[in-house]
Amino acid sequence: MTDSASSRARQTRIVHPDLDLAPGFESFSTPVMRASTVVFPDLAAVRSADWRSDAQWRYGLHATPTSSALTQRLAQIEGGKHALLQPSGLSAISNVYFAVVKSGDDVLIPDNVYSPNREHGNWLAHDFGVSVRYYDPMMGKDIADLIRPNTRLIWIEAPGSVTMEVPDVGAIAAAARSHNVVTAIDNTYSAGLAFRPLEHGVDISVQALTKYQSGGSDVLMGATMTNDDALHSELKRARMRMGIGVSVDDCSLILRSLPSMKARFEAHDRSALALAHWLKARPEISVVLHPALPDCPGHAEFMRDFSGAGGLFSVIFDERYSPAQIDAFVEALELFAIGWSWGGAHSLAMPYDVASMRSASQWPHRGTLVRFYVGLEEETDLRADIERAMTVTLG
Ligand SMILES: *Cc1c(COP(=O)(O)O)cnc(C)c1O
Repeated sequence: MTDSASSRARQTRIVHPDLDLAPGFESFSTPVMRASTVVFPDLAAVRSADWRSDAQWRYGLHATPTSSALTQRLAQIEGGKHALLQPSGLSAISNVYFAVVKSGDDVLIPDNVYSPNREHGNWLAHDFGVSVRYYDPMMGKDIADLIRPNTRLIWIEAPGSVTMEVPDVGAIAAAARSHNVVTAIDNTYSAGLAFRPLEHGVDISVQALTKYQSGGSDVLMGATMTNDDALHSELKRARMRMGIGVSVDDCSLILRSLPSMKARFEAHDRSALALAHWLKARPEISVVLHPALPDCPGHAEFMRDFSGAGGLFSVIFDERYSPAQIDAFVEALELFAIGWSWGGAHSLAMPYDVASMRSASQWPHRGTLVRFYVGLEEETDLRADIERAMTVTLG
């Protein structure tokens, strides 16, 4: 890399990566290099191959130059040394569990965690002799009081993917570090653009690339990023043993979307923030849980640590509306689709029964929560859609 290239911003370097293409051919795309068999020049090369090395090609399941182009960019975005790909965000979470935790270990999980992570933890607790406890995500440094001699892993999510509390990530990471406990954060919300947890002392950052990195609502993938050589090695070993890998065609779709991710994220952020402020003033809404608004627990931590919010936020409807009325409202929306996942161009809405989703912390609200994902439609049309659906269903 030339001096001027290395001084450029991360975003510019993602748009203009260093590529070693065939002489005489120039293109902006990363070639799709598929492989199951990777051909070795001789047997000495086979015998000296080390699966721990990211610099050696061994088998298509582990890496090809295409997947490696993606891991390099993802590591760069998160400010990490290493990145590893898994076939979904949830399999990245699973990879962390199986790399770090063994039977007899104890795991702490925030009570507002992404539900399938909770399901995974409960599975390990039920069938694999792991102890799993849930903590109040807003307890910050007091998490030190929960750490036991066998505590091995603390999960963090910032913000909680439905209820949006922003924890004090640095305080939790520092408490964990001083007790030699590994921390892993689900950083999908910020895409690694608006928050860089490795710089706050977190050991492993997890991304569901299914979301903003894909941007198309049509690819599933996940990734783990870390600066820790030993942890990266353990993640690779667990992934190898589970026999999971990713399609390089899917990698190429994400490589295609990655340069526009920051611009998309900022567009989602602008529209979502405008809608959140507008909803805050509506009589139907009692609370807006958008981390950039003061109603949201962890607003101060968000303002301190994050540079943006993206398209996701939740609202709590006034308790005079029944859950059935809120269901009718969500179904009356025309531009907000009903469906899981987010990060694409299309807006989504989903009601949640939060009280049934947690165990360790109190949920103070009685009205129904609806989570909105704000896509790339014109914000004024989204606003009109919500207003119309409210008039039709909430009177
Ligand atoms: C979507 C999501 C995941 C899982 O991603 P998949 O690719 O759908 O498995 C994990 N964490 C968060 C916060 C998510 O929103």
